[in-house]
Amino acid sequence: MTRHTSAACYSCQQPAVDREHVPPRCLFPEQKDTHGIDYRKQLLTVPSCRAHNTDKSGEDEFLLLVLASYFENNAVGNEHTLAKVKRAVNRMPSKFRQMITGEVVPVSGGGKALPIDRGRFDREIELIVKALYFAHHGIVLARPVTIATTALRCHAESQLDLGLDDLREVEAVQGFLGPNSPFRGENPGVFQYRFRCEPKPFALGVEMLFYEAFRVVGWVVESPITAFNL
Ligand SMILES: [Zn+2]
Repeated sequence: MTRHTSAACYSCQQPAVDREHVPPRCLFPEQKDTHGIDYRKQLLTVPSCRAHNTDKSGEDEFLLLVLASYFENNAVGNEHTLAKVKRAVNRMPSKFRQMITGEVVPVSGGGKALPIDRGRFDREIELIVKALYFAHHGIVLARPVTIATTALRCHAESQLDLGLDDLREVEAVQGFLGPNSPFRGENPGVFQYRFRCEPKPFALGVEMLFYEAFRVVGWVVESPITAFNL
């Protein structure tokens, strides 16, 4: 991995002091927890200021908690939850209790859900989209990114609805990406993504898959009607 930093942070254009992993490195299991399998091959990094690197480690742990505890994850995600997430929660249980915004609640169709701060989750994913954009284009994406996921059954405003808007948005981004655009990523069991950007009118669509199950999209469009048929 190259350690050189370029002049500006991928997110805010302040002077870069380090490089930030995309997505955060804590999502990738350490070899001591994987029977020696390397899930940290050629991790993507972008130049970052302190605020968008070390100062957001608490936000990265929140993202890890939400992503790794998803019940449909592959074995890599499940074992990561049993190892790293459990260690982190045991070390600082009160910190992790604060990440859950209420009691465990039953959901229609069976099962239980942990209420989480959807706005906080979306802000972390937005940073990943901005970092992927920077990695592809070498410039800062200075527009707000809309986030949608089929893995969380709640919205920021109304918790525990059916998530139909999210589903519609995920399908719209998948349509924009097309059926044949390949997923990228050197550690697909942990993270893979598809990316398409059109300059005029500006349209960006990114589909991300964590632990082969937790699907999230991020998008920015000048004209939703022409880009996405929304
Ligand atoms: Zn920054």
